[in-house]
Formats: sequence, structure tokens, C-alpha cells
Amino acid sequence: MSLDVIKFAINRITDTNPKLGFPRKESELAELCGETITPDGISGEKAFALFRDVLIKASVPINHPRHLAFVPASPTRSAVMFDLVTSAANVHGAFWLEGAGCIFAENQAMKWLVSLTGMPKGAFGVFTSGGTEANLSAMVAARENWRAADESKRSVRGIVIAAISAHSSVRAMAKVIDVDVVSVQTEDRFEAAQLEAALAGLTPDERSRVFAVIASGGTTNAGIIDDLDGISRICRRENFWFHVDAAYGGGALAAISVRHLFKGIENADSVTIDPHKWLFSPYDCGAVLYRDPEQAKRAHAQEGSYLDIFSDEGAKGFNPSDYQIQLTRRMRGLPLWFSLAMHGTNRYTKAIERGIELAKIAGRLITGAPHLGLVREPSLSCVLFRRFGWKAEDYRNWTYRNHKSGFALVAPTKVRHGSEFETVARFCFINPDTTEEDIKAILETML
Ligand SMILES: *Cc1c(COP(=O)(O)O)cnc(C)c1O
Repeated sequence: MSLDVIKFAINRITDTNPKLGFPRKESELAELCGETITPDGISGEKAFALFRDVLIKASVPINHPRHLAFVPASPTRSAVMFDLVTSAANVHGAFWLEGAGCIFAENQAMKWLVSLTGMPKGAFGVFTSGGTEANLSAMVAARENWRAADESKRSVRGIVIAAISAHSSVRAMAKVIDVDVVSVQTEDRFEAAQLEAALAGLTPDERSRVFAVIASGGTTNAGIIDDLDGISRICRRENFWFHVDAAYGGGALAAISVRHLFKGIENADSVTIDPHKWLFSPYDCGAVLYRDPEQAKRAHAQEGSYLDIFSDEGAKGFNPSDYQIQLTRRMRGLPLWFSLAMHGTNRYTKAIERGIELAKIAGRLITGAPHLGLVREPSLSCVLFRRFGWKAEDYRNWTYRNHKSGFALVAPTKVRHGSEFETVARFCFINPDTTEEDIKAILETML
């Protein structure tokens, strides 16, 4: 049985063209699987057979070359393989005392991430479960820092400023920490002048409650990079914490062709990057980077008599739990480390550039097709386009048609025109194995 499991894993790791799964209704799955949790167990053979024959077929392999919806992923084979090794190694990733060797390796990968941002010496970060947790951890650090600098803010409800194009997790995490969000009404590039206007529109009370500004280093919908430089200058002047959410776009910091668009990211107080998006790591692997990790530590380090030993002189070292909200954690940065160490960073640059190139190729094909038109020029690896004459339900049917037939998973999105929303099609390229033929074939399904 265990041999079957390992064989399946190896086949799946090396299969570059896996079958595109399609969700089934819960009732169907229940009928096909029956009750799997029983007092005596159903046996590994039976459970694995259900997984292989039913469950995995009702799940989407996110690295399918024609999966261009949402933000897809394409972990390297070496990273996925090392994910197995990471699990097998069973290392607790919260404290140096227990995880020193593995944390050292994670930190080597982190050092590279930090170097991509150009943040000053001393900047460092930690791997998180994803961009949501990274954004949350950064916002908590920002608010704690704001309150530590001025005791009178202790019971004051804070405000963060973000454009409406910011990722949904920004608003969701603002709820978690109970702060207000002032929204800058732009789905296009969030510019310094818009931040000035937003500030001018605040009452003196509101203004005194602002502690952070969040900008995107690649919006999730359109790949737009905000005016990081201009916004960072205002934050510096006003003493606001400047957070850059580059969960999706952060990988493109390694792409020479677009690196200049991120100018200003080096001034950030914190940055979110998801290696499980455009740095070819398996789920789940996000990262939060801080200009001054000590500020994060003051906000996040947990105290308890059972934890004292971890800060003892004899066990001292980098404790990942001090810099984000999670205590017990897996060594989720290890697969990235192994893959980076094996392939070298140049391979990463090449694979990321390919995603940007695929977006350009798609842009050309769309412009050349009479039934299609670009909504805006491709940005990073995102392409927004319309099928002339189609309504929202046509895009929806198109998505289901392609997914059900096992051909492709491509989903529509919406763009805003004033108070109106238009449904359009969207590609997001991550997988360097996606080909021009794949794109052509998908566009042909829109005839
Ligand atoms: C995907 C994304 C997030 C959320 O990250 P998760 O890893 O899904 O938690 C946050 N911000 C941006 C810009 C994203 O693209």
C-alpha cells in the first residue's frame, strides 16, 4: 500500500499535463465514498483507492498548463519533492532550539527575497501560510508600533488607507484587527496624488487615526503596480507605516524586464510576497518582510512560562514565531530553499520572465482576433480582455464548458467603469510550460 502511495506521488510530481479535475456535489462524493471514518478503519488500500479514483478527480491540479484562472501556481518538481521530505523530517518550525538547521535554510531563501526588494540592511522576514497571514501580521506590527510611539493611541481605533484594487484580504484582515479602511477609489494605478487627496478629505480626527497605507505590488485582478515611490514618500513625511502587498507580483522582482516598476518598494516598512504564487513553491508558503524586524517582534513575540527556554542564552537564535501570528508551524520555506539551491536564482528569473512574455503573446493574439479586444495592456502576467458581444452569462458558460470538458480552467472577472461593472475574461500566467498553442486553443473556444 505505502508503495502505491509513493508511486502515485512520484507520478504526480513528474506529470506535467495532469487531468483537469472538476468539482462534484458533496452528495455525489458522499455516495461514491460512503463513510470513510469508522471505529475500525476502512484500510489504507480502500482509502487510497477512493482518493485516487474519486477524490483527486474532483480536485483541480493548479499547475495544469491551461489553468489560467485566479492566480494559478506551478511549483517546481524539486520543491514538491522536498515538500515530502519536509513532512518526513518532522521539524517544529517555531523556535531555533528545535529547528535551527532547517530555519537556517529557510533564512537563506529569505535573504534572497529581501535582496530582491532592495530593503536596507537589517531588513528580514519570515515565511507564513500565505498572503493573508502576511498582511495580517504586517498590519498588527504596524498598529502596535503606532501605539507604542504614542500611548494616547492605546484605545483609539486605527485607520489604514488602501485602494479598492487592494486584495480582499486587506479588508478582511482589517476586520480581524478591528480597524477602519479608507478606500481610494481607483482600480487603476494608485498614485501619490490620490493619497494626498484622500488625506485632504479626512476630518482632523480621522487623520489622527491613520497609521498605515497599503499599496499593491501587482494587483491580483490586473497586475497593476501602484506608485510605490510616490506613496512611500508621503508615508515617510506623515510617519505612516508603508506596507506593500506583493503577494502575487512579488516574484516579478526577480524579472529584470519589470523590476523598475517596483521602484519605492525598498522604502516599505513591510512587504508581503507569496512564494506559492510566482516563486514556484507548493502550498502553503507566503512571506512577510520587515524593514525593522524588531518592530514586528515587539508585536508578535509570545510570552509564557513554557516558552521561556526559547529565549534563553543557550538556545538563542532566530525564532520564526516572533515575527508573525502563528506559533507552531511547519518548515514551509524549505521546499523553496531546496529548489532555489538546486536550480539557482537565474532559472527563477527565466521562468518568471516567461510568464510576462506569455501575457504579451496573449495580448498580441487577442489584438489580432476580430472577435476579441484588450481591456488594458497586459501588466505583469495578467491579461484582461473582452469577447465582443458577450454578456456575463456567456463568460460564465464559457468557463464551465472548458472546465467540464477537462480542457482548461479560465474564469471571468469584472472591471469597473464608474459605478458600472463589466464582466470580462482574464488570464494570469505563472506556469512556464504553458505554450502559445495553449493560448490560441483557449481563444478559439471564444469564437
Ligand atoms: C493572493 C493574494 C493575497 C492573499 O494571499 P493568500 O496566500 O491567498 O492568503 C493577498 N494579496 C494579494 C495581492 C494577492 O494576490
